[in-house]
Amino acid sequence: GDTISVKDLAMKMNKSAGELIKKLMGLGVMATINQEVDVETAEILANEFGFEVDIKVDESTYDFIEEIEDDPADLVPRPCVVTVMGHVDHGKTSLLDAIRESNVTASEAGGITQHIGAYQVVHDGKKITFLDTPGHEAFTAMRARGAQVTDIAILVVAADDGVMPQTVEAINHSKAAEVPIIVAINKIDKPDARPERVMQELTEHGLVPEEWGGDTICVPVSAKTREGLENLLEMILLVAEVQELKANPKRLAKGTVIEAELDKGRGPVATVLVQTGTLKIGDSIVAGTAHGKVRAMIDDKGRRVKKAGPSTPVEVLGLSDVPQAGDIFHAVKDDKTAKTISEKRLAKKREEELKATTKVSLDDLFKQI
Ligand code: GDP
Ligand code: MG
Repeated sequence: GDTISVKDLAMKMNKSAGELIKKLMGLGVMATINQEVDVETAEILANEFGFEVDIKVDESTYDFIEEIEDDPADLVPRPCVVTVMGHVDHGKTSLLDAIRESNVTASEAGGITQHIGAYQVVHDGKKITFLDTPGHEAFTAMRARGAQVTDIAILVVAADDGVMPQTVEAINHSKAAEVPIIVAINKIDKPDARPERVMQELTEHGLVPEEWGGDTICVPVSAKTREGLENLLEMILLVAEVQELKANPKRLAKGTVIEAELDKGRGPVATVLVQTGTLKIGDSIVAGTAHGKVRAMIDDKGRRVKKAGPSTPVEVLGLSDVPQAGDIFHAVKDDKTAKTISEKRLAKKREEELKATTKVSLDDLFKQI
């Protein structure tokens, strides 16, 4: 992602680098004057000094699309979309796997080998969508394209290790994206687990546990023994309920590419999260500069499906090209529209690339003189 040095950021705000470094320390980030900070950290810092940051949205993925205005009467509740964040080795993958496996019914057991980078579970009769993409990537790459995919961030902190640098980064990312955080204090099965210490450290970073009078939900869990997982899912549903998440299933689909690759046999394959509307077989779509017609869709259990509604992750076959993770996709009214939009975007992209190279070579020229 994009970064800015502490020095440059200080200059933009007319502050001394020292003031920024002090603030950063307060946020738990040790920094020097030349250090590069990421967009989210810069945004939080700027806010601390009373500035608003305009994250430049890469408009090209929206270009040439007419956004649809939803009639409020068409909006219906949709499942929440959750990402898992936290320090390396604190158990993000284990937790995602444990939640998925605990929720596989006997009839689905055979289909579970299929892995599409996102999955849905049902708890108390309500669906929850989990994204496998590391949360910070989901936030940064997708926000840069103007997309917000996550409704809730699960912050995994190992009870035997405590708050670490990437935990702090994750907190900052979630805050910048204004996504509510639920803390999963993991590995409580370990003899050296110290959940209370984790809560103390979280408090130092502005996440005060509910037990201590704050508003941060902390759930002790073990991805290994599966203790606390039910409770975690319950808390997710509780937070989601407050958010009153809604979407319009009746319109043309729109969503975000979660991951994409070129499959030898199947051609370009994109895992997308449908965020609003319903994606159907035969729909004409554009995703970034790629376009195509939905030839087949495969859900997280490896089943072929004919349609996918809001908050549903599906693999989509039929694109002309491999889109980029974070690209927005739109279903449009027909093939011709899809093709025209993708051609226009490609032309614009080439033009921008050309401009960029011209500029660089001119600069080089001046240097030589
Ligand atoms: P990630 O880097 O955050 O995705 O962490 P992983 O899921 O890969 O887990 C890192 C290590 O911690 C692995 O060896 C896991 O087996 C172990 N681990 C994860 N969760 C637990 C847990 O709840 N209890 C114990 N004892 N070990 C765990
Ligand atoms: Mg992992």
